[in-house]
Order: sequence, then C-alpha cells, then structure tokens
Amino acid sequence: MHARILNFIDGDFVPAQGGDWLDVSDPAPGAVFAQCAASDARDVEAAVAAAETAFPSWSALPNSARAAWLNRLADALEARLDEFARAEAQDAGKPLALAREVEITRAVSNLRFFAAAATQFSSECHHGEAGLNYTLRLPHGAVACISPWNLPLYLFTWKIAPALAAGNTVVAKPSEVTPLTAFMLGELARAIGFPPGVLNIVQGSGPDCGRALVEHARIKAVSFTGSTAVGRGIAAHCGPALKKVSLELGGKNALIVFADAPPGRLMDTVLRAAFQNSGQICLCGSRILVQRGIFDEFRHALLQRVAQLRVGDPLEAGTNLGPLVSRAHFDKVMNYLDLARAEGGRVLCGGEAVRPEGRCAQGWFVAPTVIEGLGPQARCNTEEIFGPLVTLQPFGDEDEALALANAGDYGLAASIWTQDLGRAHRLAARIQAGIVWINTWLMRDLRTPFGGLGQSGLGREGGLEAMRFFTDPRNVCIDPT
Ligand code: NAD
Repeated sequence: MHARILNFIDGDFVPAQGGDWLDVSDPAPGAVFAQCAASDARDVEAAVAAAETAFPSWSALPNSARAAWLNRLADALEARLDEFARAEAQDAGKPLALAREVEITRAVSNLRFFAAAATQFSSECHHGEAGLNYTLRLPHGAVACISPWNLPLYLFTWKIAPALAAGNTVVAKPSEVTPLTAFMLGELARAIGFPPGVLNIVQGSGPDCGRALVEHARIKAVSFTGSTAVGRGIAAHCGPALKKVSLELGGKNALIVFADAPPGRLMDTVLRAAFQNSGQICLCGSRILVQRGIFDEFRHALLQRVAQLRVGDPLEAGTNLGPLVSRAHFDKVMNYLDLARAEGGRVLCGGEAVRPEGRCAQGWFVAPTVIEGLGPQARCNTEEIFGPLVTLQPFGDEDEALALANAGDYGLAASIWTQDLGRAHRLAARIQAGIVWINTWLMRDLRTPFGGLGQSGLGREGGLEAMRFFTDPRNVCIDPT
C-alpha cells in the first residue's frame, strides 16, 4: 500500500470522512507513490469548526507569542531541511538542489519573516481635524489559504505565515498534485505542540475540497494562488458573498533585452528566468524580447547555453531541468509545442519530450525549447504555457519593446535589461506588470508588494500588504474636548 497523506484537523491526522483517496505521483518515474485524502465539504466543515474554536485564544495571544510559535515551526523545518527538500523533489519533480537551496529554505524564511512582522506591525493614528482617531487592525477569524503545485511549501508558507501572524486561524489547502510537504509541515506543527485548530490542513481536489472551502459561509477571507481560470471562479463566488479575497494568478512575462544590456549576468539570468523549475514558475520570463542590433548574437549565445542544460533525474546533482509536474501538465505543454509549429513558429532547439535512461524513462520530461517567428498575438505568446518553452521576438526601439511587452492580458512581472537608467525607469512605470526587475530576475525582498495586474490577479501579498489583507481596519474616534 502507498503512503497516505492525511488531513490535519484540530491537531489530529484524519482521513477524509468519505473515505476516498487521490493518487499522488512522482513525476520523475511517472509513477504513483502516495495517496492523499480526497476531502469534501464535510472535512472542510470540521476544519472550519476547529479553526473557529481556536480563534479566540490564538487571536488574544500577545503578538510576540504568535511570533514565537512561527519561529518554533521555522526552527523545526530548518532542522529537517534535507528531508523536506527530498520530499519536494519527489512530489514535484524539482531538482533537489533547487528544492534545498531555494524553496524549502525560503519556506523557513517566510515563517521567520512573518514572525517578525507580527511583532512589528502597527496601525495609524489621525488627529488635528476631527477628533482623535486610531485604527485597530483586527484579524478576521477563520481564513482560507489555497496554494498551487509549482512551489508547494514555499507558497503554502507564504500564505499561512501572515494569516497566523495577524491572529487568524487557518484552513489551508495545498494542491492535490503536490500535497506531501504541507502534510509534513502539519506533522512538525503537531510535534512542537502548535495549539490545535490554529492551523488546519485539508487535502483534496479543487472542485471538491477547494471549492467547499472557498464557499464555506463562515470563512471570512480567501487567499488564493493558482490559475487565472480558477481565480475567476473564486472571484465570482467572493464578489456576491462580499468575502475578502486575494488572487495571485497566472503570468506571461516579458524579458526585454536592449542592445546595451549589461553583459555580466545576462545569460545566466536569462537561462534561469526561462527554465528554472522547468519554466513552472509564474514569474518566468517566457517571452524574450531582444533589440534587433543584437538579436542574432543573442540567439546564438542563448542556444549555446541551452544546449548545455541537463534534463534528467531531479535527484542527480547537475540536473538543471526535472520533469513537468504531472501527466496532464506534460500533455498540455506538448500540445503547445504542436500549436507553436502550427502557428508558424520555428523551433530553434528542443520542441520534444525527453526520455532519460534508467528510473526516469517513463517520466514527464520536456526539452528546453526556444521558438522564434511568432507574433505578439500568437497563442503561444499570449497564453500561459508554464513549461520549458520560451519565444524570441525582435524589437527596434523602446516604444516597440513596450508595445510587445504589453501585448497580452496578463500583468505579473517583467525583466528589463539596459544600462540606460532613464529608459529603465520610464519603462518600469509604463509596463503592465506588478513587479519589474531591472537587470535582474526573481530578486526578492519579502517586504515588497507582490502580485499582478489584469489577468494576473487582484490584491498584493508580501510584507505589510499581507498583514493588511489578513486584518480588518477599524476606525476608533474619540472626542477629546
Ligand atoms: P490551479 O488553479 O489549478 O490550482 C491551484 C489551487 O486551487 C490548488 O490547490 C487546487 O486544488 C485549487 N483549486 C482548483 N479548483 C478550485 C476551485 N474551484 N475552488 C477552490 N480551489 C480550487 O493552479 P495550479 O495548476 O495548481 O498552479 C499553476 C498556476 O498557478 C499557474 O497559472 C501559475 O501562474 C499560478 N501561480 C501564480 C502565482 C502568483 O503568485 N501569481 C504563483 C504560483 C503559481
């Protein structure tokens, strides 16, 4: 029998009340390795009830006491970094070094960062006009945190940490595609004696478990990261229900390389932006726009570097790209490769599945792919593919670069490469994106606002934005006369 991934409700591990299970696959061998609870509205009800019961005492703790709990959880996670990294590599197929050095490490940082935020968060005071006003920032109660499969524990902790720091109790749902490390975090919470009911983790599918959670009448706020299609459905519920919602959705980000791009870190960064986590990061630069004067030289250099990337077993040192996360996602990306050709794209490298030898022969691997010849309105340049596939488009001047960058409906991130500071600042203000990197990519200060415009989402995470989302401001006005 496969390992079983249970719900964590009110401090206990329990199967779904309906007794059903979902298969969980390791994408490298392309084989089922575990089963997770297939929860539904009954399990969500139990988790929400536990969260509500725990709320009064959790929210009444001094901020420093909540911070101490988050720090204890961070310490426990850090002590088992290697184990968690291996679990993430297995569940999501990501290279072990990436899981260890970036993702689980960042999950530890998220917990510590919001522990500090709990002790530093403050609110305003207004006086001198009409009375003395101060603002209370009050937690909502039981809130929902729903996360995707691409950065499983990293994004799970990015949500639960501010929710808990601000004094809410949480019902969290990781992706059913990658449920393992959230389950393991529940085990750590129990091992350190985290107060029961404060953090509840329900496992299961989006339609059965996620939807029941979003639509639960006593859930006060929903923090969601995932696809634009699902985000729209959540917005459609939360709008009429007047439920607070934060949506971090898809992206189709431009990486803009001017002829005067500083050469030092350029190619290393472009490779990471294009292919880190096999392109399965919402912030990946999947549309590479290159100024005409250097287009041929850039393409040549890029193809040389891509040829050196190693696709293979995520557990082997030296692997750059592991498999895609699931069979369904592999099929989707392969369909886009067909579409790119049908749309008239020229495949410069990759464009096919990879079959590594040995244990990964049946895994869901796709070669890093570079395509040129597709216009800004091609579907491969407007739809989120979320795989190791990038397109190259030439541009003449700044205005054309801006028009190409802003051609789609998404607006998550952009990366601009130039030594002309005036141009960099002009573009940063005019480009449709919630995050603009200049001569870098994925450089993150956790205090900054994080999120997108247009079809990339609604609301912001990070630092004070997250603490504000997870609290309600209340004006208290005193007549001092
Ligand atoms: P997804 O939308 O399919 O699922 C995300 C989560 O929502 C999962 O836990 C899923 O079970 C749940 N879910 C699905 N249907 C639901 C429903 N009807 N009601 C409630 N919950 C439901 O997304 P995914 O495929 O897991 O993740 C990839 C997507 O996430 C990409 O579009 C990517 O760009 C996006 N993403 C965005 C950010 C960001 O910060 N903007 C970060 C990471 C990933």
